[in-house]
Amino acid sequence: MKCRLCDRFFNLEDSFSFLFKFPQICPDCTESFMPKLKTEVIPITGGVINYHYLYERNLSHLQKTYLERHYIIFFKMMQKAETGDEIVVLIDERLLHDLKNWSKLIFSLGDVTIYSLQYHDLSYTNFLD
Ligand SMILES: [Zn+2]
Repeated sequence: MKCRLCDRFFNLEDSFSFLFKFPQICPDCTESFMPKLKTEVIPITGGVINYHYLYERNLSHLQKTYLERHYIIFFKMMQKAETGDEIVVLIDERLLHDLKNWSKLIFSLGDVTIYSLQYHDLSYTNFLD
């Protein structure tokens, strides 16, 4: 089997559990790519940005494509959110590219919750202006 994250071949001991479902990632990647929810609270003029992300390391395009399945963690957090008054943004690569353009509009409206798969330094947007 070929790991979908590191692109290396791996082999596991035969087991009945693999009869109907083969593992897609190797044991090393299973452990090292375990999602860990981290939160950064950034004060802005009209409130705070609650920035949630799952990976601090840089991810390749291939890894991002596979790991996007962990967005379910964010969707469950959104369902549990009680207020509903804040703005929620799920950042992907395309949205991050235009962040400087739309951040001034969003960050002036109050509390903002941002979710992204990997950590991005948002300070370059000058959100404290
Ligand atoms: Zn792997």
